[in-house]
Amino acid sequence: MIEFKDVSLVYQNGTEALKNINLSISQGEFIVIVGLSGAGKSTLIRSINRLVTPTSGQLLVDDDNILSYNTKQLRKLRTKAGMIFQHHNLVKRSTVMKNVISGRLGYTSTLKSIFNLYPKEDLQLAYESLKRVNIEDKVYTRSDQLSGGQQQRVSIARVLTQQPNIILADEPVASLDPPTSHQVMTYLKEVNREDKITTIVNLHFIDMAMEYADRIIGMRDGEIVFDGPVSEVNEGT
Ligand code: ADP
Ligand code: ADP
Repeated sequence: MIEFKDVSLVYQNGTEALKNINLSISQGEFIVIVGLSGAGKSTLIRSINRLVTPTSGQLLVDDDNILSYNTKQLRKLRTKAGMIFQHHNLVKRSTVMKNVISGRLGYTSTLKSIFNLYPKEDLQLAYESLKRVNIEDKVYTRSDQLSGGQQQRVSIARVLTQQPNIILADEPVASLDPPTSHQVMTYLKEVNREDKITTIVNLHFIDMAMEYADRIIGMRDGEIVFDGPVSEVNEGT
């Protein structure tokens, strides 16, 4: 359902961040991408929802070449492929509920940001999403009053309200301590299993990748240097 065909990406300053990537990802896989800083992990992940645009090749999502998408198609793609960032990107001064419900389309208007104007189904969905990461007791808390791990759980809940087929997580645990990192990874894995959401996560640490991934992709200098199940990692590296 996600297919890279000879995808390259050269940034404007000449950096070749992706070099002829060929990669096929099926629905429901849990993939961890590992590699040193600068290897191209983030560029690869961000290509899938077109936060960055490859300069050559074909990138298919559900058999559609997303490199030719217009603005309207991109909006749909970004709903289908939800993103989680290292620095969670929550609106600091907003409540948890407001942040999570903003995962639904069309809530950019300030009028609708008054609580009662949200449709009941959307509030319900947001609440259910918060429950899945066990943080429903913080509905009315301002997001900047939460710990880093709690904020990252809220950002998982926000992505879930989009009802995505794909979750792209760009270094989601890089600023968290080890126990909190494991907790966040466990929630991502749970969601992947229960909802069959294709999940692609960038991680710095191979140990954590081994623990959670079904399949590991190793990157170096814009290229894929390893691609296989966890059981093959030792032979392949
Ligand atoms: P990683 O996620 O593995 O750290 P990145 O995808 O962020 O790697 O970066 C790959 C390469 O592209 C690096 O050399 C990085 O400096 C460069 N790069 C990333 N973003 C940009 C950009 N917007 N403009 C120019 N170069 C960039
Ligand atoms: P990451 O979160 O992947 O570690 P960085 O913190 O390295 O990203 O970079 C933050 C932002 O700067 C990103 O949007 C990235 O695309 C951009 N960036 C990274 N490297 C470069 C570069 N060499 N030139 C221009 N922009 C860059």
